Amino acid sequence: MRVGLVGGGPAAVCMMENLIRANDEMNADATLDVTVFDPSPHPWCGPNYAPDMPEALTNVYTNTMSVRYWDTDHVTNWFRENGYAHYLGTNFAPRSIIGLYLQDTAQKAMTCMKAFEFVQEKAINVTLDDRVVVVETPSRSYNFDYVVLCMGGSNGFDPYGLQGQQNFHITPYPLKDTLNGVDADEHVGIIGSGLTAIDLVFGLIANHHRGPITILSRRGLLPAVRRPSIQYNLRYFTVKGIEDIAAAKGSFSLKDLIELTYKELDHAGASRQALIDEIHPNRYGIDRLRDQLARVNDGEIAYQVGTKMIVAANDDAWYFLSPDEKQYLFNHYRHIAYSLCCPMPQHRAVKILELADSGQLTVLRGLKSVTKDPSGTFTAIAEGIPPIDMDRIFSAASSGESRISPLAAPIMDGLLQLGQARRHPLGGLDVERTTGRLIDARNRPQPKLYALGPAVGGALYVLNALIMLAKHTVHTANSIVRHYQENKQSISV
Ligand SMILES: Cc1cc2nc3c(=O)[nH]c(=O)nc-3n(C[C@H](O)[C@H](O)[C@H](O)COP(=O)(O)OP(=O)(O)OC[C@H]3O[C@@H](n4cnc5c(N)ncnc54)[C@H](O)[C@@H]3O)c2cc1C
Repeated sequence: MRVGLVGGGPAAVCMMENLIRANDEMNADATLDVTVFDPSPHPWCGPNYAPDMPEALTNVYTNTMSVRYWDTDHVTNWFRENGYAHYLGTNFAPRSIIGLYLQDTAQKAMTCMKAFEFVQEKAINVTLDDRVVVVETPSRSYNFDYVVLCMGGSNGFDPYGLQGQQNFHITPYPLKDTLNGVDADEHVGIIGSGLTAIDLVFGLIANHHRGPITILSRRGLLPAVRRPSIQYNLRYFTVKGIEDIAAAKGSFSLKDLIELTYKELDHAGASRQALIDEIHPNRYGIDRLRDQLARVNDGEIAYQVGTKMIVAANDDAWYFLSPDEKQYLFNHYRHIAYSLCCPMPQHRAVKILELADSGQLTVLRGLKSVTKDPSGTFTAIAEGIPPIDMDRIFSAASSGESRISPLAAPIMDGLLQLGQARRHPLGGLDVERTTGRLIDARNRPQPKLYALGPAVGGALYVLNALIMLAKHTVHTANSIVRHYQENKQSISV
């Protein structure tokens, strides 16, 4: 069974683990022959877990970062066995250590396959040709029985057209390189107020930055302060709960989603109002952070129960909502979903508050534009305040619309042109929920072509965390192995 994986980041590691497992579990006796394409100098890490300063921190507890959805101990055992036990529990690890875990896991997975090849080139075209899927790189083409597109998302966003300007960085990563030329007394501006901005502030402080740091964004929402974790298993807001409603009513609406959320909160003994207040904040920036820190240990669990629902909400509930409801949620709640689901650890929140109180760090909302004048000064215009001049700008922003990686775009365009995939109304390619099979222009799921991650963002994803990839790749690997079993005679190996 020849499988091609386009993209060799964390999703590819999850795919390899799941192909091995599906083959074993289904007694499929398929001889696995896997080829992975990725031009990156850091195979398996993707851009987010490549070597970097320790200030580039995971945004979830390490025990939720197993590449095996069915075995959360896989990651915690690796941490223990490799001398990183101090990062377990409710700690956060430098993301480069997760990169080592991913590399190690991939190395072991390769040895469980009959054949394995890593092609350190980008794929430029993928087509279904008669019975094989052809992947082309700039130097040659390869034939497969199945291909999974796991190409990740875009790593940079330039909302004000500053790319190419000296002292503008379209992404702050890797911090170890981008922070190299920063003078300690410069006024540094950061566009975007999510976790990337927080990593960057900590990177600057680790490098003994003395100058002012200004975080600027449209809404001024910093990541929420992470509350203590709780032991609670969802009772109603589960994939099955969502599927049952969809089956009984023939649809799953925003109203159903809200009712299911309330049912779960009531069952958990959590306050509905507390979650509503988080979703409709009336405080922003440092003010909201201060308020959240003051309340972080107040015993209310609505926030924790709410974020537990995200795994089912992200794929399954989202998939069933109508395009209008998705668009509505996307336009009005995406920023708050990111703030709540990608929170910052308490110790970081305390330090951010200290920096703000000392006057070194400012968080502003209502950003309208950033321009650069011929003397080299960047000027930001934000609502209700005088223009702000800065020496250097980092973009730490992301955009829903441009989440697709530039490396992925030609492949997606090619598939669309041939009708071997169809566009989802909310962007990216359309896929089947429970398998990841691409849906073609004639509304048929393709048994040999699969995709996951930001490339299918309209159909499935709001967030692309490792736990979502681990879950999704279980479905994809099962579908591939099942199809192989059922069609062994006709597949050309
Ligand atoms: C700053 C940041 C921090 C994050 N931190 C966390 C965290 O702590 N925990 C968590 O769970 N999630 C985190 N995430 C989410 C993160 O996106 C996922 O965990 C994970 O990196 C996604 O893996 P991926 O393989 O889908 O994509 P990527 O990591 O983007 O990897 C995709 C790979 O595909 C390759 N590729 C793309 N196109 C082609 C092509 N045409 N040919 C060949 N190769 C190609 C790329 O070179 C890349 O190596 C973070 C995201 C960001 C942006």
